[in-house]
Amino acid sequence: MTSPEQNRGVTRPDLAGVPAYKPGRTPENVSKELGVPHAIKLASNEMPFGPLPGVTEAVVEAVTRLHRYPDMFAVALRAKIAARHGLTQDHVLTGCGSVALCEILALATATHGDEIIFGWRSFEAYPIITTRTGADPIRVPLTSDNRLDVNGMLAAVTPRTRLIFVCTPNNPTGTSITRDELEHLLSEVPDNVLIVLDEAYREFSTDPDTVDGLDYIDRPNVAVVRTFSKAWGLAGARIGYAMASSQLIEAAGKVLTPFSSTLPAQAAAVAALDAEEEMRRRVNIITSERERVHETLTAYLPVPASQANFVWLPLGDRTTEFGHNCERQGIIVRAFDGEGVRVTIGTPHENDAFLKVAEKLL
Ligand SMILES: *Cc1c(COP(=O)(O)O)cnc(C)c1O
Repeated sequence: MTSPEQNRGVTRPDLAGVPAYKPGRTPENVSKELGVPHAIKLASNEMPFGPLPGVTEAVVEAVTRLHRYPDMFAVALRAKIAARHGLTQDHVLTGCGSVALCEILALATATHGDEIIFGWRSFEAYPIITTRTGADPIRVPLTSDNRLDVNGMLAAVTPRTRLIFVCTPNNPTGTSITRDELEHLLSEVPDNVLIVLDEAYREFSTDPDTVDGLDYIDRPNVAVVRTFSKAWGLAGARIGYAMASSQLIEAAGKVLTPFSSTLPAQAAAVAALDAEEEMRRRVNIITSERERVHETLTAYLPVPASQANFVWLPLGDRTTEFGHNCERQGIIVRAFDGEGVRVTIGTPHENDAFLKVAEKLL
């Protein structure tokens, strides 16, 4: 092992300030550590039902060609995504998870001395991505009702601002911004500031007022980022996509790592898109479970209405203890110390198990 002393000077000095991404703990680790038989993981906003029909077969077929490079331009997949959204392919870019697309949009717009704005708390990749570009992260606190503060974001804009991440529905609070709020943001923000609408959970939104980023991508400073990791059930495949003007897509493509959409991931995503009806059916199970879990928990604390596949428990000082106690009962949730706990909606049986534990602890 190299000590930090020995490493001095080799790596960028500003990396010391880059926070490390913390993944959700795995059921295997928690089961082993705590000696509980089958831990239930409600910590990473995954779908609980297994891959969509046809996906496994498509991946197995793709694996027989693993000695070949994938299609670098993911033409079959991009064509399918484009057709589904009424676009042409030059408006679509795929990458290694939508987190990679957030990153290349940041790399394509911001560098040292610039600023990137996002709500806080929001997706924990934003400060990491921002610092990687060399830009300064500007965190705008959420409103008291756990929503993005669009006016606060506008007030934070300076001549150095290059990009604003708008996570809607917001991870981890589940709240979404309205069309009016987005239009206000777009009308006030300078033309040279890119708005990245991170719609990782768009498919779970049942509120007719939730923004559909697609309505805005004819603007040169708007990009929409979506993923196959959540509703489409492909978190392990690592594939997501961005939709924007062809100019923006071309610029972002220049900073994308070549071949970063793997052959199995492309095949999995194409097959998943063919199973859209089943995806919708599964999403409906999750959203009706979400309402049930929300309703049960609101008897104990003010849980914001969620448009995603998780709920936010604003537990403040009780957060860490609640998280530990859930784990001790074999339920892995995501605790943000001192702030709150994010709980992914699982199968009805998993949600029952969580509610049983939560009702005792709350
Ligand atoms: C999960 C998530 C993503 C994407 O994840 P990938 O697996 O990298 O596609 C992006 N944004 C938000 C807000 C998320 O919660």
